[in-house]
Amino acid sequence: MSHSRAFSVFAILPLLALLTGLLMMTAADESAWGYTGDQGPANWGEIAPEYVLCAEGNAQSPIDIRDAVEADLVDIEFHYGETANKIFNNGHTIQVDIDPGSHIVYNGITYDLLQFHFHAPSEHKIDGEAAPMEIHFVHQDQNSNNLAVVGVLLIEGDAQREAYAPVFGHMPAQIGAPEPAGDPLDLAALVPQESGYYTYTGSLTTPPCSEVVRWLLLDAPVAVSAEQIAAYRALYDGNARPIQPLGNRDLLYTRP
Ligand SMILES: [Zn+2]
Repeated sequence: MSHSRAFSVFAILPLLALLTGLLMMTAADESAWGYTGDQGPANWGEIAPEYVLCAEGNAQSPIDIRDAVEADLVDIEFHYGETANKIFNNGHTIQVDIDPGSHIVYNGITYDLLQFHFHAPSEHKIDGEAAPMEIHFVHQDQNSNNLAVVGVLLIEGDAQREAYAPVFGHMPAQIGAPEPAGDPLDLAALVPQESGYYTYTGSLTTPPCSEVVRWLLLDAPVAVSAEQIAAYRALYDGNARPIQPLGNRDLLYTRP
């Protein structure tokens, strides 16, 4: 008898540890969101009170780009330099944080580049078609805290895009804090030299889905290699929020 009692005590200890672990995970992950199942986009609005706009907002992103009204809009002025950067896996995507200094000027407002990150497939669609990937260059106006996000569609080309090599070659599989990357990035070489763009007012495409974004989606895609796309998709494949209704918002297009 004593033998079997001793056995049951030792058998239950790992179980208790496991249960405690699960309870702690549940507490820490209360507002965890993802792209599938209960944590998926259809449920984001119910996961936490601060995510309510994901369900109830009326200026949400991404959208399907169609029937854009052509207009003669100002250029997006890119002031992108060569910069040190920090690349990391934030649990939802691969993100590259940028040292201060690079910015865009749009409609007289300066927006500082904070970071860029990836989605696969693209979040925005053009006439119902998604691209293999989309990059979001996230900029912020320090006066209003409003964001301007430049979206660049990535398509598959014949060759590796050298400017992107420092990023695609160093994507961490492990979720973790920003780590200084070895090679500086030539930011200007990451975006198309000449492009028209679509623009509308929308939201973050991830919780809390804040409606603070001037979207600037470039219509000229950037070609990267199949291997570069595969390197990202090995880590994240399917981190695209479904299309949201345009509603009564303006969707404008301006030629290069
Ligand atoms: Zn994004």
